[in-house]
Amino acid sequence: MGKVTGFLEIDRQDQKYQPASDRIRHFREFTLRLSDQDVGRQAARCMDCGIPYCHGPTGCPVHNQIPDWNDLVYNGDWQEASRNLHSTNNFPEFTGRVCPAPCEEACTLNLEDVPVAIKSVEQSIADKAWEQGWIKPEVASVKTGKKVAVVGSGPAGLAAAQQLARAGHDVHVYEREVKAGGLLRYGIPDFKMEKHFIDRRVAQIEAEGATFHYGANIGVNLPMAELIAGHDAVLLTGGSEAPRDPQLPGSELAGVHYAMPFLVQQNRRVGREEVHEEPIIATGRRVVVVGGGDTASDCVGTSFRQGALAVTQLDIRPMPPLKEEKLTVWPYWPTKFRTSSSQAEGAEREFACATLRVVGKNGKVTGVECARVDEKRRPIEGTEFIIRADLVFLAIGFAHPLHEGMLAELGADLDRRGNLKADTESYQTSVDKVFAAGDMRRGQSLVVWAIREGRQAAHAIDKKLMGATTLPW
Ligand SMILES: Cc1cc2nc3c(=O)[nH]c(=O)nc-3n(C[C@H](O)[C@H](O)[C@H](O)COP(=O)(O)OP(=O)(O)OC[C@H]3O[C@@H](n4cnc5c(N)ncnc54)[C@H](O)[C@@H]3O)c2cc1C
Ligand code: SF4
Repeated sequence: MGKVTGFLEIDRQDQKYQPASDRIRHFREFTLRLSDQDVGRQAARCMDCGIPYCHGPTGCPVHNQIPDWNDLVYNGDWQEASRNLHSTNNFPEFTGRVCPAPCEEACTLNLEDVPVAIKSVEQSIADKAWEQGWIKPEVASVKTGKKVAVVGSGPAGLAAAQQLARAGHDVHVYEREVKAGGLLRYGIPDFKMEKHFIDRRVAQIEAEGATFHYGANIGVNLPMAELIAGHDAVLLTGGSEAPRDPQLPGSELAGVHYAMPFLVQQNRRVGREEVHEEPIIATGRRVVVVGGGDTASDCVGTSFRQGALAVTQLDIRPMPPLKEEKLTVWPYWPTKFRTSSSQAEGAEREFACATLRVVGKNGKVTGVECARVDEKRRPIEGTEFIIRADLVFLAIGFAHPLHEGMLAELGADLDRRGNLKADTESYQTSVDKVFAAGDMRRGQSLVVWAIREGRQAAHAIDKKLMGATTLPW
């Protein structure tokens, strides 16, 4: 249980960042890793509570056995900690970097605002395991003779492909892009997670027997019917890509873009891929980002790195309280004021702010007209103001998966939000042999939830194909 008196003796210490003035000069990661000794001290703070909420239903979605690996790290057994961590999470180096860490909100020590630095410990275990060469392909000793297709290679598809290959199936991953990773590669910027981490996982999964087919856009250049006919099961993990349309007057003006093309372009540049579209560049521009989530934050950080003059972020929600009412919300995820590392690089933030329209001159954006909102988020007359802008990014989220192409051809039932309908026991869609997981099934979510769904869908598929499964749930 870590050290019995650890939480009394040792203060919480988390990874630090390079100063903003340094980190906005490059696109690389900028966290400064804790030393092994410091990680051991942080792990020692874990109290191994009677009910460890950190890995219960309100904490870690993949149910990482957090107190167990904290204890192992405290006692210096990093290799066993890695084995334990990988028993529940295929890609802890991803989540150790980009997960918002609901586990830390649920940690008992968070009642005093000093949770165990779980995410940093997780990242350190995963990074050390790679450095030490402990992570090896786990090749199935018996092949089943069953062939399974996985469409999409985001975290859900990668986790499922790895689990299914380890169960002995002949796994084929079909990916529209030229590289694997989904939003991990093309949405999330390198400064949050560098992409070589994806490449070495793909190499591991390939060594475990899976075959990756790139440039395969199912329902567009490769028919869904062919996939169904050629495989014993097909798992769809195509993500949730249709952007919400803010119905914003003026959004046809030059200089107004959805967030994703901007982020995808920059990720391609950093990854030395070709960008075929008209470049969207924030250098020397006044940028306004509409939206308050992860995607909006990533637009902020990317704009600063490209040399934007100023970045303003607009959020229609009221400014949340600085601190949550602990005893009413703990151990659940609280609404409270959070500042992402990108916002801390100098963004102006407007809360309770409706975006009324984009204004422009000669067909080009010159500003965004805003107004304060009341408690029902209705604009208050007389509070209108204009923020100057040369570039506007719409980052208000994703409505559902793309309905054209693959889903149109498949014709499976959708849920009322427009996601592909499947339950979280069987992961089966309304079409025989076809399964769904990740954002395509649950709607826009998190990397850790995608990993969970990929693992669980693999379990369900293995059980369906073989009558029983030893894959973990
Ligand atoms: C900008 C941004 C930042 C984010 N930041 C975070 C964060 O910090 N932390 C966090 O936890 N989550 C974050 N998220 C959310 C997270 O990235 C997603 O929840 C997660 O990637 C979903 O995984 P997935 O595998 O279901 O789908 P995706 O990652 O979307 O992958 C889907 C894959 O399917 C492929 N595909 C789609 N259709 C087809 C087809 N017809 N044929 C072949 N291939 C196809 C796509 O090319 C893609 O590779 C962020 C999302 C965005 C957009
Ligand atoms: S995956 Fe996320 S919730 Fe789970 S232990 Fe890691 S940081 Fe916490």
